[in-house]
Amino acid sequence: MVDERSAGAVVFIADNETEYLLLHYTAGHWDFPKGNIEAGETERQAATREIREETGIADVEFLEGFRQIISYKYRKRNRLVDKEVVLFLARTKTRGVTISHEHIGFAWKNYDDAMKQLTFKNAKNLLAAARQFTQPQT
Ligand code: ATP
Repeated sequence: MVDERSAGAVVFIADNETEYLLLHYTAGHWDFPKGNIEAGETERQAATREIREETGIADVEFLEGFRQIISYKYRKRNRLVDKEVVLFLARTKTRGVTISHEHIGFAWKNYDDAMKQLTFKNAKNLLAAARQFTQPQT
């Protein structure tokens, strides 16, 4: 049993070039929109709600067949928290973002820049898998 489960998505906009939405967390890291799954919610419902709350984006279209898990441990008030984050892949047409107090910034980045901006290796691996899923030829 993990201590915390969150859900979120690699949110992308497909203009001339595909760009990915990253959030700057107050703890300092850059990551995808995500948050705790609440009681009674499905993973998708939680991801949809978190994306809306954290970015204001309400039009997300999930790509069927992409569901990946990132696991990590972190220390919270001297306790080791075992965490699992379920990530989907979602397309939006909305570029305008309104972040909540939970974050200190956001960025739309192309693949190479998103790879540089993401803080954690497991998130970079996930972005690579997301790109592979939508553009298998790359
Ligand atoms: P949530 O958005 O799920 O509500 P949160 O904002 O409370 O989460 P996390 O983003 O999980 O918190 O960050 C909590 C701690 O875990 C931070 O110290 C962060 O540095 C670390 N952390 C976050 N993501 C990862 C990761 N992919 N790999 C390793 N450590 C991570």
